[in-house]
This record gives sequence, structure tokens and C-alpha cells, in this order.
Amino acid sequence: MHILNILESNSNLYPDKLAYGFLGKDGELTEQILYSKLSQQVNAISAGLSTRYKPGARLLILLPAEAAFIRFFLASLQAKLIAVPCPVGYSESGIQRILNIIRDCAASAIITNRKTFRMLFQRQNDAVKALQDYTINWLFTDEVSFDPTPAGNYIPDIDPHQTAYLQYTSGSTSLPKGVMISHTNLVANLSAIDNCFGRTAADVSVTWLPHYHDMGLVDGLLSPLYTGGTGIVLSPLLFITKPFLFLQAISNYQAGFCGGPGFGLDHCDARISGEQLATLDLSSLRVLYVGAEPIRISSLERFAETMKVTGFRRNSLVPAYGLAEATLAVSLHLNGTPMVYHKTADNSKEVVACGPPVELTEVVIVASEEKNALPSSQIGEIWVKNAGVALGYWKNPEATEATFHAYTSDGAGPYLRTGDLGFMENGQLYITGRTKELIIIRGVNYYPQDIEEVVSECHTNVQPNAAAAFSVNTELGESLVIVTEVKRIVQPGEDMDQIKNTVAHSVGLAFGLIPYKILLIPTGKLPRTSSGKIQRLHAKEIFGSFDQNLELLS
Ligand code: ATP
Ligand code: MG
Repeated sequence: MHILNILESNSNLYPDKLAYGFLGKDGELTEQILYSKLSQQVNAISAGLSTRYKPGARLLILLPAEAAFIRFFLASLQAKLIAVPCPVGYSESGIQRILNIIRDCAASAIITNRKTFRMLFQRQNDAVKALQDYTINWLFTDEVSFDPTPAGNYIPDIDPHQTAYLQYTSGSTSLPKGVMISHTNLVANLSAIDNCFGRTAADVSVTWLPHYHDMGLVDGLLSPLYTGGTGIVLSPLLFITKPFLFLQAISNYQAGFCGGPGFGLDHCDARISGEQLATLDLSSLRVLYVGAEPIRISSLERFAETMKVTGFRRNSLVPAYGLAEATLAVSLHLNGTPMVYHKTADNSKEVVACGPPVELTEVVIVASEEKNALPSSQIGEIWVKNAGVALGYWKNPEATEATFHAYTSDGAGPYLRTGDLGFMENGQLYITGRTKELIIIRGVNYYPQDIEEVVSECHTNVQPNAAAAFSVNTELGESLVIVTEVKRIVQPGEDMDQIKNTVAHSVGLAFGLIPYKILLIPTGKLPRTSSGKIQRLHAKEIFGSFDQNLELLS
């Protein structure tokens, strides 16, 4: 079984049903694809691609959230090519990221459109020049035409254990790595998600998530297709500029499913007016999953409270945990049941349960050094085994061995080593943070996100969700550094001193730690991934040795 059989069967069962609708900037549908049409187009494009590229060739798909992306993604899979969804970014670092991916996977071609192509080359810098000089075949979705009625067997004999696509990781802790996802991985994880959520062909899902990352691709785009339902899609940029359109789409289409990182909840909370709330009916939502980053209980609670007037049910909040190396989902809270909060073993903090592992999934908590499985409630590394665990990292046997073939001290395995820390309690998985980002000061462990949460909420002129905490080695040993964006109204001098004092005081009160250094930086200057995650290790590289605030430097 693979996703192309599923597309074909949906096109037979529901030829006239809307598979995808894409929202424009006023909330109107700018593109609509019916299942029958999608299937025909995928067949035509796939036949065309087969004549140009050999099986196994990597095709970079560099397209915004539009119908062409889904057509060309599925057509690549059908033509036995390896699709490589790639973040679209026009800044120098965005173009550098594209180049890194092209080189890493040795792509044969880039599938894009004329507008995207023009925007890539509108400025001159080293990355743009390097992309110009790179010899590669460009294929424009708005120029190329395919025979609409190709002859022959549409769906080839696909080996389900072959790599279907490369999912580059978000790049939170290092350069993005290409995870090889097989057809079997994809279908196993889609099935696990939908069996847990209870999504049916009658359901509508809405997504604003970046479609080139695991969550946006697998759940945002492919889950609705897997169940034969409808996906309503808006771009991340549209969500950031007009979050109301996202909630309005849920309300208008009476959608049952959506999700994203916790900052999306905060964003809706901050940007939706009482008047707008009064026009919404969110009672149809059965699942609003929250994951991709450490989940703040305060964000869940605030959102549930604000959205109550729309008929939104608190029990549809679904804390979720997953990663690209496992296709997407590892554990999901059971929707319709109340969320569970639990104190960590040292009683330092309440954490929300990310539910039991999804079906046919084994999670063990392992001691990082000794590699023995730990009992309930003890914090250790999260290791995973299931059919969604990917084949490995593209052309990187050492990293594949270290991450995908881990064995516990008593020989059980192979497991995927997620690099995340957490614990199990009453069959539920709790995530506490990432191994690489753990801050250890005088033998005590601190999670950066806990410190950042206090920083973000201590002063109204601190930009929310825009702080990074890490430690640097100083004459005092490992010492805490806090970098946070501040709002534009903040002036150098007294304003800044006051914010720093408040930050120092709040962090001191909450953790008994005196920050060694606090840096206030302008809005937008904290390094983030293309999915908006904070890159703490990168922030440490940039700011670790700075002694002054960025405003004062410019
Ligand atoms: P990279 O691997 O390139 O550093 P990344 O790990 O952020 O980037 P993804 O695979 O897209 O790339 O994200 C998965 C990671 O996101 C998980 O390993 C975990 O660290 C974090 N994450 C996902 N869900 C949760 C959650 N519910 N709570 C805390 N962290 C989460
Ligand atoms: Mg990762």
C-alpha cells in the first residue's frame, strides 16, 4: 500500500469532492482541486517526469503553498523519483539553506514557478551568485505542459520500502539533515495519526503549517488525502499576518482538524479581537494538536479560555510529540479527553502529557550514559521503535548508525534515538527538552524553554516567544546567558536597564540563578528555523561572546 493507491481509490470513490482548497489573502479560495482532477494531473505529470529523470533522482520542490506543490510532490513519488520539499526563502540565509539542500542531496532538478524564480534572484549576494553558478535543470510548473492522457500503466510497481521523499529536519540544532522516508513509513504514520484522531472522509482539515516540514507535509497536506477528506490550506505568511483567516476557515468549513506549534495559539490569542471572536463557530473542531516545540501550559490555558465563546472545546486540545526521523507523530493525547498535567520527578515544574505512544509504537526512556531502560517517572532519553521510523539520513551512514540503530544495555533494539529528554508516567509520554540544549550549572539541570518562558512573560516590552537561554563557559564556570528580543518602542538607556533588571529579578526568583549576561536585541534578530523554531545553539554562536545590546552596536 502507498499513498498513490490511496489517491487513485479516492478519485474513484469521491471524484467530485474537493481534495484541496487554497486560501487567498482575503480568505477566498484561489485554487480548488477535486479528487478526480488531482489524480489525472498526477498521472500526467508523473508520466512526463518519468521521461526526463531516472528512478531515484532527487527533485527539489521549491514551491509556495499552492496546488502545484501537491501535484508535483505526488507525481514525483509516482514516477519513482525522490521528492525533496524545500523551504522557500529569499533572504541570503534562505538561499544558502536551499543551496545546502541541493548540494546535500545532489538534486537533478529544481521544480519551481516563474515568480519564485524571479524573487530568488532579485538581489545580489554571495548565496545568490552561488545559486546562479550552480548547474542544475530548472522546471517551471507554470510553463511546462504534460500530455493529459498519458498511455500505459498509471501506477507503477512501487517498492514500498524505497525512499519516497527526503524530509529535511528543521535545523533547530544543526544543519538540516535529509531523512529518508519510505512509502511504508508514510502510510504507517498516517494510519497511526488517523486511527488516533478518528478522522474520516467526511472531515475537513485546515493547515497553515509550512508544507515543506514534517508536520505541514504529513499532517497538514497528506492526512486529509489519506482519509479522503478535504484540506483547506493557507500559507504560513498569511497566518502570521491575518490569523483570523485561519480561524474563519475552520468556522466556515466546519473543520474538525488542525494543529501547529504553541506560538500559533499565542498568536491567535493576541491578535483576534472580541468582535472577530463573536463571528466564529469553532465547535466543530475535534482536534487542535499542539507540538513541534516545548508546550507551555499557559498557552494552552489562555487559548482555551479565549476561544470558549466560539464554542471551542478545551478537550479538543491535543498535545503531540513527534519528529522528522519518525515521519511525524510518536505520541498523541487522546482527543476528547481532558489534558493531563504532571510534576517532573524533582517537582520543579508541571509538564503536559503528550499522550500514549501512537499505535504499534514502543517508547523507552533510556539513561544517556549507561543506556539502561529507566522506570516510570524518571527522566531520560526518548527512544522509539515503530514502522514510521525512517530509513536513515541521506548519504550519512555514521549519523544513521548513531541515531537510527541504538540498542539498550540489555541488547534491545534497534531504536531511534530522538535526542529528546522526557519521562513516562501512567502510560503517557512527557517531554522535558532536548539533550543538546540542556543547561547544566553547578550540577543542576535547567531547560532553556523554562527560563525563556519566565523571560517572555516578565515585562510587557519583551517580545513574546522570542528569547533564547544558553550557557557559556566563563571564569565562574558554566554561566547563564539570556538573549531576548524587545519591542520596537524600547529606547536605549533607562528603558533597557529597567527591562534587564526585571529579567534578572524574575529569573533569580524562579530558578535561583543570576544571569551572567542579558542581551536585548531588536525584534526579528533571534535566529530561527524556516519553521520559526528558535535556534539556541546558533544564538549562542552569534551572541555568546557579545557584551553589548544590539541596538547600541548599530
Ligand atoms: P534538527 O533536528 O534539524 O535540529 P528539529 O529537531 O527541530 O531540527 P523536527 O524533526 O522538525 O526538527 O522537530 C522535531 C523536534 O521538535 C523534536 O525532536 C523535539 O525536540 C521537538 N518537539 C516536537 N514535539 C515536541 C513537544 N510536544 N514538546 C517538546 N518538544 C517537541
Ligand atoms: Mg531533530
